Amino acid sequence: DKMVYAFGGGTSEGRSGMKNLLGGKGANLAEMANLGLPVPPGFTITTEVCVAYYDNDRQYPKELSGQVDAALAKVEEVTGKKFGDTTNPLLVSVRSGARASMPGMMDTVLNLGLNDDTVEGLAKLSGDERFAYDSYRRFIQMYGDVVLGVPHHTFEEILDTYKDDRDYVLDTSMTADDWKAVIGEYKEAVEAALGKPFPQDPQGQLWGAIDAVFGSWMNDRSKTYRRLNNIPAAWGTAVNVQAMVFGNMGETSATGVAFTRNPSTGENKIYGEFLINAQGEDVVAGIRTPQNLTKESREEQGSDEASLEEAMPETYKELSAVFTKLEDHYRDMQDIEFTIEQGTLYMLQTRNGKRTAKAALKIAVDLCAEGKITEDEAVMRVDPAALDQLLHPSLDPDAPRDVIAKGLPASPGAASGEVVFTADEAEELANQGRQVMLVRVETSPEDIHGMHAANGIVTARGGMTSHAAVVARGMGRACVCGAGDLRIEKDGSKFSVHGREVQKGDQITIDGSTGEIFFGAVPTIEPELSGDFAKVMQWADKHRRMKVRANAETPLDAKTARGFGAEGIGLCRTEHMFFDASRINVVREMILAEREDGRRAALDKLLPFQRGDFEELFTVMKGLPVTIRLLDPPLHEFLPHGDNEIAEVAKALGREVKEVAERVSALHEQNPMLGHRGCRLAVSYPEIAEMQARAIFEAALAVGKETGDPVQPEIMVPLVSTKKELDLVKERIDAIAQKVFAEAGDKLVYTVGTMIELPRAALTADKIAHTAEFFSFGTNDLTQTTFGISRDDAGSFMPHYLRQNIMDQDPFVSLDQEGVGQLVALGAERGRATRSLIKLGICGEHGGDPASIAFCEGIGLDYVSCSPYRVPIARLAAAQASL
Ligand code: ADP
Ligand code: MG
Ligand code: MG
Repeated sequence: DKMVYAFGGGTSEGRSGMKNLLGGKGANLAEMANLGLPVPPGFTITTEVCVAYYDNDRQYPKELSGQVDAALAKVEEVTGKKFGDTTNPLLVSVRSGARASMPGMMDTVLNLGLNDDTVEGLAKLSGDERFAYDSYRRFIQMYGDVVLGVPHHTFEEILDTYKDDRDYVLDTSMTADDWKAVIGEYKEAVEAALGKPFPQDPQGQLWGAIDAVFGSWMNDRSKTYRRLNNIPAAWGTAVNVQAMVFGNMGETSATGVAFTRNPSTGENKIYGEFLINAQGEDVVAGIRTPQNLTKESREEQGSDEASLEEAMPETYKELSAVFTKLEDHYRDMQDIEFTIEQGTLYMLQTRNGKRTAKAALKIAVDLCAEGKITEDEAVMRVDPAALDQLLHPSLDPDAPRDVIAKGLPASPGAASGEVVFTADEAEELANQGRQVMLVRVETSPEDIHGMHAANGIVTARGGMTSHAAVVARGMGRACVCGAGDLRIEKDGSKFSVHGREVQKGDQITIDGSTGEIFFGAVPTIEPELSGDFAKVMQWADKHRRMKVRANAETPLDAKTARGFGAEGIGLCRTEHMFFDASRINVVREMILAEREDGRRAALDKLLPFQRGDFEELFTVMKGLPVTIRLLDPPLHEFLPHGDNEIAEVAKALGREVKEVAERVSALHEQNPMLGHRGCRLAVSYPEIAEMQARAIFEAALAVGKETGDPVQPEIMVPLVSTKKELDLVKERIDAIAQKVFAEAGDKLVYTVGTMIELPRAALTADKIAHTAEFFSFGTNDLTQTTFGISRDDAGSFMPHYLRQNIMDQDPFVSLDQEGVGQLVALGAERGRATRSLIKLGICGEHGGDPASIAFCEGIGLDYVSCSPYRVPIARLAAAQASL
């Protein structure tokens, strides 16, 4: 079996299509080498080896070491250097690289192959002793941390103390002798921690690093990242071993990262940062502030440090030609790592760049206009879930604001929350439903759980490509980074800025599009969806087969939904209309009534309210279909709880406290989700359904007459499990319809259908379809009843299930296609068997989830219905599903 693929030196055994086997980094290094770009030679150990390694108790396949030796020999041949040689040593990097990019989550070791002897060879060969020892101390630091498990700070403390003692501020003050001294201390620290010396054998170092990179696939931060991004653990990572090139060889050497277009706005301008006399990690780590690549961006940022374009014009020209070549080749915006060694350019990585939703739209539209991709491809290029970033409010320009600081606009969007200083605090408070703002000096991969929990992220240090910025953009979190004036108290109690203090728990707001930080919570406004957004949505709509409706009950939600392009209402939950302060007591009066006549009297009072609700909704929806679900929740939800509330309600209704309390306890259920709710209410109290039906018909007739757009209400009966239940409720509805039509001397077309949200309903859908004119799959309840997992109680154990990979995803977020999906498919099929044109839709959270939408397209549903803010996501996802 082939386990090792060589790249560089003119040919590559891999190519970009081999990401599954070689990981993204390895496949693209091979591809770049194939394109004739200057890639330091190396080889990739496949992801299959990683999988085998874990399947086999962390043992490698026998043939691996022979293949690695052969590939390493080839790198020696191409570079003319020898691994472990004391006069002309080959140094390598050992780099992780999974199928999907997981920036910074896994480990990489640079400068491998250095030891007490080879470092002297490197010094002589380069004629630069300082460079050689700088590289060696970097290696001990990285290898010590990543492979040997000696914590990073051990080395930092040694270096800081050493510098402090000599009044050095920057690493650049360190001489070769200084580095030698520090290296001595580093080695002592390693030996003290491990009880054995720092490994000197290059072969041993190499395998140690390979173990560590494969091992990092299973570290906690990788696991968290995979969970948040739905990357299967079974994929494994590849390992890339590559000849080192040196950006730390003096003033004509440098290292940098670049995006071929702006990843925040999508603007077609090179966007990146670099550091002279530095190695790769330095740019991201935020140790020194990186400089701009282009003159234009330097000027925009008002910096006086020369850009690469100005400092090394020839190399810059070469680099920008490479950018163009890569963009044309991949037909997408690229995220690139490069290093310049004494004036010679080397390419170290390229990949399709992560971007904000706004940038994704602009780049897709621009690439299409440039003739590089088609409209269909443009539609496919935008991640529907990412649109979420654009669909949420931004700062109200007219609201008063109190700017306390400014940093870099790292990830757009406005957010507020209470200040916390650690990722754990952020997660803890967010779990309590609080809105938090994570404020840190800088972030590291250990912080991702907190970044995910926070509304927004602020860092005091780090550039636009710092960890915080990259991760925040990927997550769609607003982020301001490099706010250098912030002084964060070490004990995590407060920060100060320009003489002001902000305590932990104080509210702040950030604008990730401007970099501003405000004191307090600044009000926000709705987004405007035009330009690139509108264009991509228009292209998407051309290809979309399924309709997209919204779940909405208030006129405001309905208007929002229409603004986002909803083509109807798929779920109007009438119970929400009962909670309104003006009528809740009438509802309670109805529930508290012991007999039917008492209930009817209260329902008569509710009728005009309910009719008014529907009139408003029908008016907003202008003849578009509206599905109204009859009362669903258990009645006790409307009743007061606790002595005080009960007393208040009793007083308001003029009843005895005891009487109310008794009724409340009589309605108590052990398991209300499976109790007296849904159509079961209509069975025991048909007068409630009758009142609702009357309100619907009267409102529909009135609005139809007034606007001239005939209203065709779809009345939906919830929680049906047998045809007989539906028959009974439908009879009542039909009877009311006849009555209302007779009274009004007018009529309209309506349909009666049902939710399919219980397994029995799905299984007997052929029978139910004799009565039901439409089905709406209520996948929230269907998930709940199929798994037997209470949606309201899942929070206490679902995280364990996800962490232990028992489930890849929370089934309440993304439809469990394997199990619940079978019932949906079966229900659809059986429903159609009886009534071939039965209208089929889905409501519930899954209606706005791209993967679930693709499933719905696959089984041919007519529409999906989701919350108003997710309508554009659903439109795009539905289009992608049908392309
Ligand atoms: P990550 O996936 O965290 O970016 P990488 O494997 O890309 O990790 O490497 C980390 C840094 O080291 C990057 O800046 C990269 O460009 C640099 N680097 C990796 N390999 C080499 C090499 N052979 N020579 C010089 N720099 C390298
Ligand atoms: Mg990288
Ligand atoms: Mg339900």
